Amino acid sequence: LVVLRRKIIAGNWKMNKTPNEAAKFAKELAVKLNNSGAECVFCVPFVDLIPVLEAVKGTTVKVGAQNMHFEANGAYTGEISAGMLAETGVSHVIIGHSERREYFAETDEAVNKKAIQALSNSLIPIICVGEKLYQREQGITFDLVRMQTRIALKDISAKTAENVVIAYEPIWAIGTGKTATAEQAEEVCKAIRAVLSEIYDETTAGKIRIQYGGSVSPANAKELFSMPDIDGGLVGGASLKMDFEQIVCY
Ligand code: PGA
Repeated sequence: LVVLRRKIIAGNWKMNKTPNEAAKFAKELAVKLNNSGAECVFCVPFVDLIPVLEAVKGTTVKVGAQNMHFEANGAYTGEISAGMLAETGVSHVIIGHSERREYFAETDEAVNKKAIQALSNSLIPIICVGEKLYQREQGITFDLVRMQTRIALKDISAKTAENVVIAYEPIWAIGTGKTATAEQAEEVCKAIRAVLSEIYDETTAGKIRIQYGGSVSPANAKELFSMPDIDGGLVGGASLKMDFEQIVCY
C-alpha cells in the first residue's frame, strides 16, 4: 500500500511577534517558502492572523491559529471560535498543544470537542499528543499517546479524519534543544499510525499526516522528516527566524 502524503511543516510562533513584526517577518519568509513543495503554515497569535494573512497573499504559505474554543459562540469572555477563524481565511488550527494542556488545563475531552468544531468549520486541526519525561521513564509513552489519539478522534468519521494532522511532540523535547532521535520519533509516529488503523482502517491511516515536534532545527529536520511515518514537523523556536526556510527546504 503506497500512499503519498504531502509533507506539512508548521511554525508555532507561540506568544511571539506583534502584528507589525509578524507582518514584516511573514512577508519576507513567505516569498522564500513559496512553492516549496511542502504544505507550509504559520501558526500565529490571534491578533497577528489578519496582518499575516495579508502578508503571505500571493504565496503558497498558509496561516493557522494556535487555539480556539470548542463552542460555536456564546458567553465565553476572551475566547475565539472556529467560525471566526474560518472567516478570516485561516486554514489550520493547533489543538491541544502541551502548553495549553499544562498551563490552561486543557483535557483530552476538550481537545476532542475542539477538533470536531474545527473540522465542522473546514479548519484543519493539528492535534498535539506527547508524553512528559517521567511518563517516558515509566514506560507508558505508547499507551498514553495511543489514548490521547483515540480520545481526540472520538466521533470523527474516517472521511473527515483524513483532514486531521497529528503532531507527536514529546514534551521533554519542546524548547529544550533535546530532540528525540529520528528512531524514537519514528517508533511513536508509527504507533500512532497503527492506532489510526485500529480506529479507522489502513487506507485512512495511510492518508493522515503525522508530524514530529520538539526542538526541530535545520540540523535535524532532514533526518526526522525522512522517516517513513513522519510527514513533517511542528516547529517552535526555529520558526521565528529566517532559517525556518532551511527546515522547510531541507
Ligand atoms: P520547539 O517547540 O520547536 O521550540 O521545541 C515545538 C512546539 O512546542 O510546538
